[in-house]
Amino acid sequence: MANDSYEEAIDALQQLLSEKADLRQVAGVKIDKITSELQSIAENKKSDLVERLKNGFIHFKQEKYEKNPDLFNELSKGQSPKFMVFACSDSRVCPSHTLDLQPGEAFMVRNIASMVPAYDKIRYSGTGAAIEYAVVHLKVQEIVVIGHSCCGGIKGLMSIPDDGSTSTEFIEDWVKICLPAKTKVKAESGDSEFGDQCTHCEKAAVNVSLGNLLTYPFVRESLEKKTLALKGGYYDFVKGSFELWGLDFGLSLYVSSE
Ligand SMILES: [Zn+2]
Repeated sequence: MANDSYEEAIDALQQLLSEKADLRQVAGVKIDKITSELQSIAENKKSDLVERLKNGFIHFKQEKYEKNPDLFNELSKGQSPKFMVFACSDSRVCPSHTLDLQPGEAFMVRNIASMVPAYDKIRYSGTGAAIEYAVVHLKVQEIVVIGHSCCGGIKGLMSIPDDGSTSTEFIEDWVKICLPAKTKVKAESGDSEFGDQCTHCEKAAVNVSLGNLLTYPFVRESLEKKTLALKGGYYDFVKGSFELWGLDFGLSLYVSSE
């Protein structure tokens, strides 16, 4: 998009200059210079990003990989994480940072608004495969679904018109997984401000996802055997707090920096 408008601007300028022949000779040289300068800035920006990734890996390798040879030697043989974590794709909420989860500790799924769809082999096989692998093969002990403050996906869900019409290719169809949360919020606090409704829905959606986890037979089986537990979580990056609750939806932990 940016490139298109840039090309269009150059074309328009060249067109203008071709109509004013006397300007063309002087300005043409300048345009070539500006064009090459802009291209070199764009290339530098690209290489900055590559450098960012390279330096990031060097930092990880020096500070973690090389300082924990026992851990990484063990992980080279296999993984046995205790947690499966569902978290939003939002760049601000990475659980490896917010919960200090180390390599090998959590089998993770991140998607828009941290949603768990109900068992559906056709539409949601990717999520189903991850849950099956985590529960049946890795035998994780906890599945934690974490919502967060200011979630764009939840805002999107709350913004879908009442007639259910959508304008995106995938996003709204995906977040409709937690439509029951929206319905609940509208019924309980439909009169409150939109922002408050979204906050309410960010937590209600976690509970819908916990309920959806029960539609997977292997999840139910492990819960019955008490080898697995389900938890809901909520990370508020505005307040700097984290809540965790059990499947009975009773609050069991609240951690705040305040
Ligand atoms: Zn989000």
